Amino acid sequence: MNSTPAEQKITAWLKAFTAALEAHDIAAVQALFAEDCYWRDLVAFTWNIKTMQGREAVGDMLAATLEQTTPANWAIEGEASESNGVTEAWLTFETAAARGKGHVRLNDQGCWTLLTSAQELKGHEEKRGPTREVGVTHGAFKERETWKERRDRELAELGYKTQPYVVVIGGGQGGIALGARLRRLGVPAIIIEKNPRAGDSWRNRYSSLCLHDPVWYDHLPYIPFPDHWPVFSPKDKIGDWLESYVKVMELDYWTKTTCTSASYDAAKGEWRVEVDRDGERVTLAPKELVLATGMSGVPNIPEIPGIDGFKGDIWHSSKHPGGEGYAGKKAVVIGSNNSGHDICADLWEHGADVTMVQRSTTHVSKSETLMDLALGALYSEQAVANGITTDKADLIFASIPYAVLPAIQKPLCDEMKKRDADLYGRLEKAGFQLDFGADETGLFMKYLRRGSGYYIDVGASELVADGSIKLAHGQVESIDADGAVLQDGTKLDADLIVFATGYGSMNGWAAQLIGQDVADKVGKCWGLGSDTPKDPGPWEGELRNMWKPTQQDALWFHGGNLHQSRHYSQFLALQLKARQEGIPTPVYGLQEVHHTA
Ligand SMILES: Cc1cc2nc3c(=O)[nH]c(=O)nc-3n(C[C@H](O)[C@H](O)[C@H](O)COP(=O)(O)OP(=O)(O)OC[C@H]3O[C@@H](n4cnc5c(N)ncnc54)[C@H](O)[C@@H]3O)c2cc1C
Repeated sequence: MNSTPAEQKITAWLKAFTAALEAHDIAAVQALFAEDCYWRDLVAFTWNIKTMQGREAVGDMLAATLEQTTPANWAIEGEASESNGVTEAWLTFETAAARGKGHVRLNDQGCWTLLTSAQELKGHEEKRGPTREVGVTHGAFKERETWKERRDRELAELGYKTQPYVVVIGGGQGGIALGARLRRLGVPAIIIEKNPRAGDSWRNRYSSLCLHDPVWYDHLPYIPFPDHWPVFSPKDKIGDWLESYVKVMELDYWTKTTCTSASYDAAKGEWRVEVDRDGERVTLAPKELVLATGMSGVPNIPEIPGIDGFKGDIWHSSKHPGGEGYAGKKAVVIGSNNSGHDICADLWEHGADVTMVQRSTTHVSKSETLMDLALGALYSEQAVANGITTDKADLIFASIPYAVLPAIQKPLCDEMKKRDADLYGRLEKAGFQLDFGADETGLFMKYLRRGSGYYIDVGASELVADGSIKLAHGQVESIDADGAVLQDGTKLDADLIVFATGYGSMNGWAAQLIGQDVADKVGKCWGLGSDTPKDPGPWEGELRNMWKPTQQDALWFHGGNLHQSRHYSQFLALQLKARQEGIPTPVYGLQEVHHTA
């Protein structure tokens, strides 16, 4: 069969690339990259999650890693394609320790973007298909241990007679996805969850909540949602799914268990994790500790004079139980982002008189527009019909370096502005202060940079636009017995005040559980160093501290939306498995700490 020009171009590049790698000729490798180039590595070369930007960075990384990585067997997977002057293809390759998947984009100068990702560790592959367990030993045996007996024994012994290799604190969607990956890799792990049931972190939220992201984006690893599952999962349904998942994936998941403290014994290379398991004090001694306590971090509650004297109900959005019981009552919701909007709508639906206090501008994206423009190509019914599996979509997403994303997001944001001009106009007329991101790149960049500052509109914006949700502006200066007083002296009477004031950085959890010194040592989590509001520079190129080694030995952070939990749990699990197996994992480019919170 004749190969296409795209295939020929990729084949020629790959041949030169592999020859240069094999010869350890780093200058020759660099010459195959465009001047403006990016090599994003997920654990394959760097034992880190790292983007090398520019030829010099590519050279530095190879000089440090090539010797022990010994990449080989590069091949094109599937068909190469070409559009708008960019030729791209999927790749497979191997390193000394792993089998990997890659993706390359070439422009007229050479390689523009390269993704390399470890997919499995050689000799430690997950059992699947032909290597699955038989599940039964045929024959007749005295004192045969049934599956149920074995499982009960494992559950009784782990954490008492035997120690887990990993403890994951937090059994939300993040802890659960990681737990499943570790289980499949044979890494003994206990997931600690303070709630009574898996899925409670969703169930405990206000009653009307549904996921903001569509189903195609939300699958957990290994078990996708069935194809009748609603596009937007109601929160109790997702709670039940998570609980079932924990059961069928046979996770060692301790409910009603709170981690009270943890400390690291560097000499022993071991954590001491104190937990309260439904009243019983247990000390665990894992080698690795993962904080999956929620990427949103610790709730922010501003210190406002008079707060203790308020006669009504007052709480952070994370504690809002729902609008039941507030019919005819006055509610003030401080904050105008996702939670603020959802809670205002919930209270309005329950007949409350609601005022939203907007302190600064907020970006609004209509959910359906977002689904169509931002996610549709990769995560939609159409994408499924086009043969884009979830794994493929995740890797395509991962193949776009964060530095390149704003240029891709900007036109989408411009289109969104046009498409929803009517809503934006009406919101502004109602006094709502809108923004589209520091560089007009919209919601996704705000999510990555600061994890806040936006609302995915699933209905509340209409209520704001038509005045059903009232608006007030400015800082809350004080709270008195019956309401909140704003900076300009406006008094807002209230029976309920909700602080939808967001969350701190995830290292706040480390401060609470391990100590402020460790929190400061690892520094701020999340954000790219874009030098935009709440994401101070310098540029980091990857999300700070997420799913990769931190400045504290054996401490990891895991979290994010369902897509990120699914995708990045794979790379975090591989890093933990490699350590469990004693595979050398020299980390290239451990991130420096520039900010403590
Ligand atoms: C209105 C709204 C809509 C959203 N829509 C979506 C969406 O569509 N898709 C999406 O992916 N995300 C959505 N999110 C964000 C969602 O909240 C997070 O993605 C998700 O909760 C993150 O999961 P997680 O496991 O990292 O953290 P969490 O769900 O917060 O889980 C952390 C767990 O840690 C436990 N924990 C904390 N401290 C301890 C301790 N000391 N000991 C034991 N356990 C502890 C907590 O009980 C909790 O269960 C939405 C959020 C809101 C508010």
